[in-house]
Amino acid sequence: MSDLNLESELFEKIVWTLIRRPQLNRLEFQRPVQVAKAETEKKGASVQVQLVQLVQMIGRDEHNNKIEFAVKHTPGGDCPEEGDELHVSWEIMTQGSHPVPYFSLQDIGTWSNWELVLRIGLKVLWKSVKMNMWHCKYLQSPPGTKTMDKRRSGALANYAWGAAIYAYLMRSTWPEVESFVPRMGLAHVVEVRLNHFEQRVVCTPIPEPLAKLEGPRYQFRFTVARAKELRTTEGDVTQRLQNVDASWQSLDFEWALGKLSGADLEIAKTRIHCDHCWLQWNSPIGYGGPPSCERMKDKDGNETNRCRECFLKGIPCSWTREDHLGGPGHLTKIPGRTGQGSRDLSGEFHNLLMKSLVTQPEQKNATETVPIPDPEFMKTSEMNQGTRGEPGGLEIEEVAVGGWMRGHWK
Ligand SMILES: [Zn+2]
Ligand SMILES: [Zn+2]
Repeated sequence: MSDLNLESELFEKIVWTLIRRPQLNRLEFQRPVQVAKAETEKKGASVQVQLVQLVQMIGRDEHNNKIEFAVKHTPGGDCPEEGDELHVSWEIMTQGSHPVPYFSLQDIGTWSNWELVLRIGLKVLWKSVKMNMWHCKYLQSPPGTKTMDKRRSGALANYAWGAAIYAYLMRSTWPEVESFVPRMGLAHVVEVRLNHFEQRVVCTPIPEPLAKLEGPRYQFRFTVARAKELRTTEGDVTQRLQNVDASWQSLDFEWALGKLSGADLEIAKTRIHCDHCWLQWNSPIGYGGPPSCERMKDKDGNETNRCRECFLKGIPCSWTREDHLGGPGHLTKIPGRTGQGSRDLSGEFHNLLMKSLVTQPEQKNATETVPIPDPEFMKTSEMNQGTRGEPGGLEIEEVAVGGWMRGHWK
């Protein structure tokens, strides 16, 4: 247990600056300024420069599942270089998902605090020494089924680290402890407010929790109900998932009989994957190779109605006619990657299913590097220690204060 308590080793010296941005419904936690350090890693023929200690959470790997908040340097100058001034902030929405969620999870999850993990964003600002210019971007973690505990449903690394970071920054703990969620202690947080009238910065240490947390509770029945509610309407046709959490491979191909013929019909009939796995593999916004869609057994060795991927993600399998999963155009061409003249999946129902069951869409407009005007970071040693004298024992000489006040980044 103490192995998972990272506080003493990794967090004791970090003081996070909290800036409230009610106009954007978010709390922003800025880490003190860093100078990007580079570590070179050879990957095949190419050399990648990894900027380490981005948020000082690298290098712990209890279950071969370390999370790396590192920015990989790629040619083209869209990442910080060694020696650049680096500012990292976690953003937590006070309502709704972050527009660029850092943790690439599907919307529907089986833990009651899933939605809170999707409120978290990670923003990086840096000043290029070479170009003497400021840049900004949001990061998104790699999607997939990397898990903290393969025997537990919904124990994805992306979820567990998100739940841990949420509690850490909000200076609180989850009352219902799950062994696969790391515990990181409580962040040292100093709230910074600008008093424009007096041209003064007021810094107040936060001794209290920023939120009261509940759960996390495992709620698979609720997850099934949410999956059944997913629907879109195109013209007078309502599309929804079929056979949610039903018997294994509840597929029939009646829909294809009047529409497809010859090789296309034969190909359609070869489908064995559940909706999640079929979408993940066939969609142009899926994240990789063909999933096995291997049927799971329970601990007594009995077959279940779920595949391994859906079990790990904490969602039910469902078995829906392909022409609906594939979006508009199903009357003329077979959807997916196989078949002569097959076509890309698209459309409202497809997009809804991808976000709900597979992963967050990549927000290219925010994860690409944007040049920005000098955000005018300030430093201050002016401290209002408050009445509680927290955080105890920390010597705060200077707090880097974000001057990111122009509101041009939404
Ligand atoms: Zn599957
Ligand atoms: Zn499945």
